[in-house]
Amino acid sequence: MKTIGLLGGMSWESTVSYYQIINELVGRRLGGLHSAKILMYSVDFDPIEKLQHQGNWNGTAEILTDAARRLERGGADFMLICTNTMHKVEPEISSSVSIPVLHIADATADALIAEQIDKVGLLGTAFTMEQDFYKGRLEEKFRLQVLIPDTEERRQVHDIIYQELCLGTIRESSRKTYLGIIDNLAKKGAEAVILGCTEIALLVGQEKTGVPLFDTTRIHAEKAVDLALS
Ligand code: GLU
Repeated sequence: MKTIGLLGGMSWESTVSYYQIINELVGRRLGGLHSAKILMYSVDFDPIEKLQHQGNWNGTAEILTDAARRLERGGADFMLICTNTMHKVEPEISSSVSIPVLHIADATADALIAEQIDKVGLLGTAFTMEQDFYKGRLEEKFRLQVLIPDTEERRQVHDIIYQELCLGTIRESSRKTYLGIIDNLAKKGAEAVILGCTEIALLVGQEKTGVPLFDTTRIHAEKAVDLALS
């Protein structure tokens, strides 16, 4: 079994999900007392969040490339950046290490294509919903049609992530807001919706809606287990 490197802490609430899903899947596939070999570097999220909102992506890249090198030196065979948003600096992170970095958007696109979905809604931080490193990658590299919520809905989705989900706060009113926005995306033609932020599944699960949901945390974790056991 290969050792999975997790670059986590963004937020730690969602890194818990990664840790749990990966161990559950390894246990299920190998049986007995098997669990995953994991090396984790969990950052302090507060300075990273401040740098993101200042637009200082180089500053975030410095912190994350240092963490990635530590994972490599510690013996990780490959790594996951446990957040969609910080894939903004995935090129810098990938080029700072010689081990593979499994891209969360690529894993998600593969899952969508396997289900023959062409037109998909995207929820995530404003960075993820609006910028080319993520939405553009799905459109250009994978030829998916990506629909995003309108301006006011995007603000709500973004604020709920940073002001509630990353702090472990789950509010029924926010769940209703998200479900309404998911419905609106489906009305605009989305065949499915990407939960493109690693905390969203803490708020909205498939049991809450008839619109097919693609949870990036689970998809990314599954890809890691496939590679670890291959
Ligand atoms: N975990 C979130 C994501 O998947 C947001 C936190 C962050 O900015 O990294 O995008």
